[in-house]
Amino acid sequence: MKLGRIRSKIISLIMILLFLGACLAGARKIKTEESKADASFFAMSTYVSLTAYGKTGDQAVLGAQEKVEELEKLWSTTDKESEIFALNHSNGEPVDVSSETGDLLRFALKMAQETEGALEPTIYPVLLSWGFTTGENRVPQEEELKLLLQNVGYDRVFMEGNRVTLPDGMQLDFGAVGKGYTGDVLVELFKEKGVKSAVLDLGGNIQVIGTKPDGQNWRVGLRNPYGEGYLGVLEVCDLAIVTSGNYERYFVGEDGKTYGHIIDPADGYPAESGLASVTVLAKEGKLCDALSTALFVMGPDGAVSYWRQHRDFDMILITGEGEICMTEGIRDHFSLNNGYDDWEVSFIE
Ligand code: AMP
Ligand code: MG
Repeated sequence: MKLGRIRSKIISLIMILLFLGACLAGARKIKTEESKADASFFAMSTYVSLTAYGKTGDQAVLGAQEKVEELEKLWSTTDKESEIFALNHSNGEPVDVSSETGDLLRFALKMAQETEGALEPTIYPVLLSWGFTTGENRVPQEEELKLLLQNVGYDRVFMEGNRVTLPDGMQLDFGAVGKGYTGDVLVELFKEKGVKSAVLDLGGNIQVIGTKPDGQNWRVGLRNPYGEGYLGVLEVCDLAIVTSGNYERYFVGEDGKTYGHIIDPADGYPAESGLASVTVLAKEGKLCDALSTALFVMGPDGAVSYWRQHRDFDMILITGEGEICMTEGIRDHFSLNNGYDDWEVSFIE
């Protein structure tokens, strides 16, 4: 009798605990869902998608969207009000730019020097002649490209503080670095607002803050440069992951040939360096962005030797033969998706 009462009390206690547990789990779940804020919009010629968790997520996402639009207004090559437009139509006269434009230009010029001109922020006249900016694509004559390349050369951009002088005829384009730089600005902004868990996607430039709200690493897909879908998954936290590839923007000429949007500044033609895509992983988005474009131009051998000299980032090269080569540091963070198990993966040391 006594034992029976104790047993029934224990059972009621367990039931209460189970009920409370369920309530708490439910409450936590609702809280997580409630505190997720996201926004998707078109800016910087691409789709931007921002997701932030936590109480201040809403405020952070709103502020971030305004910031992207603000930076786009500074750097659009076609907006007549932009600072880049003013610079590109300055006829050799000095132009005072904002600290953000000055900062990004200084960084782009430094990376141009480090990559020996594989990143070339003054490539814009060549991009224009291929029609990559307007969508009215054409294949320019070799002579035309040679003439245009006379106006290309990062080492002739003169900066004194935020006063910039471009030689007459020279034009800038931040297409290769602007999104990465913007990502860094947004990460700062999110952190200032107290966001500890977020993912920013600026047209495939991914930057993650912290881990997922449940403490697990973020899972970021690695695009298949040869078709739809993802080859594999990277499990990461607090990192930027930026991919460049000619599959992102290209056109097929009347000759049936495919022409991609990443230009080799050495000859003004789309880079055909033996790579299908380059993914760069590092803390800073701007470094990833600058390098993914530059390493794509350099090709596999150039990219590997650049990495061996610097080692302050990780990379995944997908070659024209469909091999995946990645730096040793990400071996444990990458797995191939089902259906891609037969892809060859090698490691760079
Ligand atoms: P991304 O997608 O970051 O690799 O940048 C590619 C974009 O940068 C192109 O769409 C062009 O606007 C521009 N671009 C193309 N080739 C180069 C280059 N060699 N250096 C700098 N910018 C480039
Ligand atoms: Mg880039």
